[in-house]
Amino acid sequence: MKALIYGGPHQLSLTDLPEPSPGEGEVKLRVKACGICGSDVHGYTGESGRRTAGQVMGHEFAGEIVDVGADVDGWKKGQRVAVYNIVPGPDAHKFSPEMIQCSPGKRVLGVNTGKVGAFAEYICVPAANLAELSDDISYSIALLNEPLAVSYHALRHLPSTRQSLAIVGGGTIGQCLSRVAKVMGNFEVYVLEPNAEKRALAAKTGATVLESNLDELAKYLPEGADSSIEAVGTEESLITSIRAVRPGGNVIVLGNLAKQVTIPYQEISSYEKKLIGSYGFNGKDFQTIVGWINEGKFQLDDLLSGTCTLEETPKVFEDLASGRRQAVKVVVEP
Ligand SMILES: [Zn+2]
Repeated sequence: MKALIYGGPHQLSLTDLPEPSPGEGEVKLRVKACGICGSDVHGYTGESGRRTAGQVMGHEFAGEIVDVGADVDGWKKGQRVAVYNIVPGPDAHKFSPEMIQCSPGKRVLGVNTGKVGAFAEYICVPAANLAELSDDISYSIALLNEPLAVSYHALRHLPSTRQSLAIVGGGTIGQCLSRVAKVMGNFEVYVLEPNAEKRALAAKTGATVLESNLDELAKYLPEGADSSIEAVGTEESLITSIRAVRPGGNVIVLGNLAKQVTIPYQEISSYEKKLIGSYGFNGKDFQTIVGWINEGKFQLDDLLSGTCTLEETPKVFEDLASGRRQAVKVVVEP
């Protein structure tokens, strides 16, 4: 089968790999759509150190079941599915299922599973990780469950009371955050984003959009927002997120790009601001979000920036990495 191998910084090549067959408890999928995530691009450049030479990437995907392994109940060939991409490690039983994404030894399909990734024609995944798609949901829309569930998990760290929320960054996660916040219904959303196109996209969800400027935010919320979410991953945006909240406010730390940053310690302690880390999502978040996608709760078409084949993907990565192309979600159709 055709697959893309990551060979090291700025190297991605089309290779022929043996077609996998499903093990016990697994199904084999024909990958129909796999999103290019910002984390794939930062891994591709070597910037984040979160991808390994020799691996196949691709962790946001949906496909059709083409084969079923032993001991799989309730799934059959021809079903259209989305996939929860975290596979628990051997020590997972020591962790609550709510925290499975943080358990040591867990693996993320297409992130640290070697040659098992969805920038390939086929992939075998645990049947326990599947959710069925409604017939009217396209595979490209279905793969958006991943950034939407990351966003939902992050927002679940906040109280369910009515509150103002500053989203710092209007990239894919920022856009998904404003969509999920709208469905959850208790947030008055402000999106801080320097790029005008991304601001216009976020404005469609009813969010107030601002040019990443805290003075501008203060015109609406003189005391600061009740909560903020850092959705970029840099020192600058984390500091903005801390300064965006009122005394006692919550800051969700989500971006996950910079390894280490310097932050204004006294502004956090003196104003009792709460920094809350959020990472990935659990199986329950996944099922909730796929349910909402199936029910048509989201308007998502405008997040899809285009499609490409496996052959075209290396060029797309280079364009995204260099900034020549600005996109919310490019979808690879292997
Ligand atoms: Zn992702």
